[in-house]
Amino acid sequence: MESIQHRAFDADHFRDCASVVVERLAAYLDDHSLRGLALQPPAALGAAVRALMSGDGDSPATFDAERLRTIVDLFISAGIQVHSPGSMGRQFTGILPLPALVEMIGSMVNQPSSFYEAGQLPLIAERLMAAELNRFIGYDPERFAMITTSGGSLATLTAMLAARNDAFPDFWQRGCRAVGDDDVPAVMVSEDVHYSVSRAIGILGIGAEQVIRLPIDAERRIRPECIRPLLQQARMRGLKVFCLVATAGSTSIGAFDPLECIADVTEDEGIWLHVDGAHGASLLLSDVHRPKLAGIARADSIVWDAHKLLFVPPPCTLLFYRDRRRSSGAFRQQASYVFEKEPDQYTVFDTAEINFECTKRPMIVGLWAAWSLYGRSLFADKLDALCALTAAFYEHLRTQSDFEVLHRPECNILCFRYAPYPMSDEQLDALQLGLRDAIREDGTFFISKVEISGVTALRCVFGNHLTTLQHCIQLLNKIRELGDRLLAGVAEHAGAEVLEATGV
Ligand SMILES: *Cc1c(COP(=O)(O)O)cnc(C)c1O
Repeated sequence: MESIQHRAFDADHFRDCASVVVERLAAYLDDHSLRGLALQPPAALGAAVRALMSGDGDSPATFDAERLRTIVDLFISAGIQVHSPGSMGRQFTGILPLPALVEMIGSMVNQPSSFYEAGQLPLIAERLMAAELNRFIGYDPERFAMITTSGGSLATLTAMLAARNDAFPDFWQRGCRAVGDDDVPAVMVSEDVHYSVSRAIGILGIGAEQVIRLPIDAERRIRPECIRPLLQQARMRGLKVFCLVATAGSTSIGAFDPLECIADVTEDEGIWLHVDGAHGASLLLSDVHRPKLAGIARADSIVWDAHKLLFVPPPCTLLFYRDRRRSSGAFRQQASYVFEKEPDQYTVFDTAEINFECTKRPMIVGLWAAWSLYGRSLFADKLDALCALTAAFYEHLRTQSDFEVLHRPECNILCFRYAPYPMSDEQLDALQLGLRDAIREDGTFFISKVEISGVTALRCVFGNHLTTLQHCIQLLNKIRELGDRLLAGVAEHAGAEVLEATGV
């Protein structure tokens, strides 16, 4: 009999395996039941995973489809159930199957992008998608550039590197020696900036002491009137602010910084404006929500995560530059084995010179295929529906006297607290944390928690079109049930202590 080692590469074997996988995934898509996050104890999961590994790993394994089926089921169940209407906890969105299938083609044919030679379709699709999406940004079509990166964190690092090299042209060559005592590189960020920005600043050698935090208003947006005075102060300290990072859709509550007012200052002062739109740039596709991003075309660079609100599998991030020439400022290198001195009609499509990654997933193809086969309205309609659901939930919460809602939602994120009766700040915070854990334990819903100005809150992120207001109301009832149980437990405990203290 021919051994499995031979069959492993064959088309028939692929067909058999694919049908098992597709059948299980289709069953997953059919399941619209309310499920949260089933956190499995690592020891139990470890044992289940170990049991799937064959023997000593050296001798030929026996293949059986049943084990493959178990692998798929384990993979599905040991994760956030993003396709369930009960999944409201994080920025991972519900599932759009087509891009996942197209991803499989990329994995199947083992062709990375970055070089035209290896990634012809991805690199052409990248140019076309860039042009499509830029219609909603509004950059000069002749001047802008777009690359894809594995995640928003890497995109921000790349853009900030280009910004630093632009302001300090000798830095790449001379490192810290390029910096004069009264020209120390500094960056301005919002108090609510994503941690990936602080990381990029650390990697670039800017130093946390050279980060100027811009105050935010009650809606947690940068207060643009504070920028000039803080710039003045920075100059007095010998700092040269070369970049300001604004956010379009903050991770905590989904706030949008006022880009027009910020750009008025950065243009005036010659500061690179980087917009972290990892979460919120997708709202550009919606006619309803686009005004929140007014002024974005004045940004020097923009990060846009397609794996968040464009519903494609992670990672798929788009990094836009207003000016193509400045995109090439990030990396200043020669590598004769890959880079061409004089690009020809093919290598002009290579992105490796402006991209940190060498071997890179052809991540654009899934997005391009969905865009091409379904059109923009698929994305815009789903975004509008998610934001409308969030707004409706907000309106409902405002009428519930035992809940406090922390902000008016700008997109698909809403933060609130369960506060059935007056209690101390510490008790309220502890109640929300206890609730998050209890909800996780219960397994019907998945939500997250967040700290906003020292206040702990529950956080919902709506990324699934299957979720309705009715589900949100069910969530509130679940919170009441679990919260009251927690409070009763605390009261009982406190009661016991009182009894003990009084010696009864
Ligand atoms: C998610 C997020 C990031 C990080 O992006 P990754 O793709 O996860 O690396 C950065 N900024 C904001 C505002 C985000 O929401």
